Amino acid sequence: MEISHVVEDNRNEDMHNSQTLLSSKSVSSQNEYTQEVDPGPPHESLFLVLAYLPLFELLAMSEVCMSLRDAVHNDVLLWLNIIVERPLSLRLSDEILMKITSKASGRLKTLVLIDCEKITDDGLQLVIRKNPHINKFFLPECTGLTPEGVIRAVKTLSENHQSLKSLRIHGIYNIKKDHLDTIRSFFQMKLPQQEHQRQQPILFHHRNSPEYRNEESNPMIDIDVDICPKCNNVSMVYDCPRETCKNKGCKACSLCISRCEECGGCIIESEELEATACGDNLCSNCWLQLPKCNLCNQPYCKLHINHQHRLSSSTGFVCDACHVKFVAMLGAWYC
Ligand SMILES: [Zn+2]
Ligand SMILES: [Zn+2]
Ligand SMILES: [Zn+2]
Ligand SMILES: [Zn+2]
Ligand SMILES: [Zn+2]
Repeated sequence: MEISHVVEDNRNEDMHNSQTLLSSKSVSSQNEYTQEVDPGPPHESLFLVLAYLPLFELLAMSEVCMSLRDAVHNDVLLWLNIIVERPLSLRLSDEILMKITSKASGRLKTLVLIDCEKITDDGLQLVIRKNPHINKFFLPECTGLTPEGVIRAVKTLSENHQSLKSLRIHGIYNIKKDHLDTIRSFFQMKLPQQEHQRQQPILFHHRNSPEYRNEESNPMIDIDVDICPKCNNVSMVYDCPRETCKNKGCKACSLCISRCEECGGCIIESEELEATACGDNLCSNCWLQLPKCNLCNQPYCKLHINHQHRLSSSTGFVCDACHVKFVAMLGAWYC
């Protein structure tokens, strides 16, 4: 599938909306649109913006006009750091990944593929072979990959130019301790002097932040997963931000120790879990501080704050579940 088709499909809804908007204009304003106006070349500042655009917008921009298309496709510098996330990640195939990465002409430095389930071991390996200078290699939740495929890719990167500095592989199925040991051995081969212990904590409530997912916010973490000290499985292992927990051994994966979605603190077994509108865990302290639904008195965590329904007739909000009940109740009254 052509790259342009992916963008085309994702834009269909927007285009439909804009067409609906246009058709609702008055007849007189329609006449304005029918007048022939020479659009002229794009403003120079648009070319400066290109370097700051995410991949989706960059691809969309390349279809605006010939000069922008040439600017996007011919400038290697725009393609050295490729980050694929939703909505493109769901459509990204091996073939499209190869096309996108080929624009870096072998100089690709960052390859971040978030939740790209169609990418296979062989497709990834082809890209790696052509781009041996990758130093930031993030593959979280790429469930089409296997541990063996990841090992092969890391081995290739380590052998060739020894540039790999940061690897993220959480959410790839069946990674065992032996796989992790093998992957670590490539890092150790590469950087014999470097300290491989984590220098900064990984906090549960930071795991979904754009900085953590895309950026090298914590450059001391060379591999994101670790062996959980409680269950011995390979997983994301979180530190605890609570001052009172220092040296208490509550560093563990999220299956072994529940953590608060707001502050990342461990939820102590004796602590009663407070109900939330989204079902996520909150410690008592965070629960008390968050605004609650007007009807059921349950808060949303920060991940789900956009589920709040604001009512013009009152302050505060109602949650999704109460909103559904409320609308059904109103419907019953008027029937
Ligand atoms: Zn565990
Ligand atoms: Zn908390
Ligand atoms: Zn703790
Ligand atoms: Zn509610
Ligand atoms: Zn939540």
